Amino acid sequence: MSIHTDLFDRSKKVSPGGVHSPVRSFKNLGMDPLFFRSANGAYITDMEGKEYIDFCQSFGPLLLGHRDADVEKAVIEQIHTAWTFGAPEPYSLELAEWITKRISWVEKLRFVSSGTEAVMSAIRIARAATGRDKVLKFDGCYHGHMDSLLVQSGSGLAGESSSTSAGISESTAAQTLVCNLDDDTMLEKIFSVHGKELACLVIEPLPANYGLLIQRQDFIEKAVSLAKAHGTLVLFDEVISGFRVALGGMAELLNIRPDLVCYGKILGGGFPVGCYGGRNDLMDLVAPAGPVYQAGTLSANPIGMRAGLASLQKCERLNVWEKLKTRTHSFVSALSEGLNELNLSVSSHNSIFWIHTKTQKPIRSITEIPSEHGKNFAPFFRSCLKRGIYLAPSGYEVGFLSLAHSEEILQSSAKKIIEAAYDGKNS
Ligand SMILES: *Cc1c(COP(=O)(O)O)cnc(C)c1O
Repeated sequence: MSIHTDLFDRSKKVSPGGVHSPVRSFKNLGMDPLFFRSANGAYITDMEGKEYIDFCQSFGPLLLGHRDADVEKAVIEQIHTAWTFGAPEPYSLELAEWITKRISWVEKLRFVSSGTEAVMSAIRIARAATGRDKVLKFDGCYHGHMDSLLVQSGSGLAGESSSTSAGISESTAAQTLVCNLDDDTMLEKIFSVHGKELACLVIEPLPANYGLLIQRQDFIEKAVSLAKAHGTLVLFDEVISGFRVALGGMAELLNIRPDLVCYGKILGGGFPVGCYGGRNDLMDLVAPAGPVYQAGTLSANPIGMRAGLASLQKCERLNVWEKLKTRTHSFVSALSEGLNELNLSVSSHNSIFWIHTKTQKPIRSITEIPSEHGKNFAPFFRSCLKRGIYLAPSGYEVGFLSLAHSEEILQSSAKKIIEAAYDGKNS
């Protein structure tokens, strides 16, 4: 029996499905998940000692790659200084000042420990500020696992929703309306019927949790202007795009100032850190300044704060965003050219890419994802593994480049991925 199967069997006895987050289980991939023991730069090594070039990068947090030397140094220093106080300390202050100095729409922020917590807290502010209960989300956007956002489009044009998880009360699901991405008519309809009941709209301005669904700028602008016209706050969930596509995330690239914004993933440089922030008057509603309660025992944990700051400072110093944009462009061009004959294409935005069945038009909503996409992914994923390439273990997850993915690594990866797509096709 392989080491992985043995570990997975043991894990299944002590954790649901053998994992601590569902997509890690390799469900639908026709194999047991791999267990990994170490990581360095663009590489990860499994329990059998086999090395892979990693395009999952822990689902996005590692913009500099695994164990970047400068981040590691800051973390080790902090481990020898203090782990956690549950009291004010200078590390979170430095990181908060760094962010608010550079991102003008983040006038104040509060650190939390995950993206889920950030979104949940920001929505609480929106409800408190507007005195309204309902929230509008978009089908195919992921905002973490708070109850009211685990919903999808239900029947009808006015945004009715149904929950996507057991254990969510109907009344909770009914608080959220759901609009299709890229659907102006539905968006207008929802605002005309429910606009005055909506506390906020929440959107991933670059939806990257159900494939990569790049939106038209005018669609996002329309959502924002309808929100403003109806007194609905705009919450950008930039947990995946923040500090990745640009220092100021998609808001910077789209030139839109959200009322509230959430960050996570890259913000902690590989440690559990999230934050929510935005307009002063909204953030001042948060306790102890205001009546909106929100707290966390390990919030603004010094190790995460130091890792986050070291990581962001390095990204800025090296202008990682420009470098990665160029590298992604040549990587994706090589991939697209090699995959063209197999009827596959690659969507990308800065350092994020997604390989999928070719379509006539860009894929902007989940209904436009070709139905064979999921089924074709399993053999492709397995041949990538054989060739030493680790992709996120689902066809609906995107791939991430980090600064550690050098031109040489990317060139050889593109070659291996193309070969894998050919054997995937023939198996
Ligand atoms: C990952 C993600 C979340 C959830 O963050 P967690 O840290 O996993 O709770 C929320 N929103 C978006 C856009 C994400 O990509």
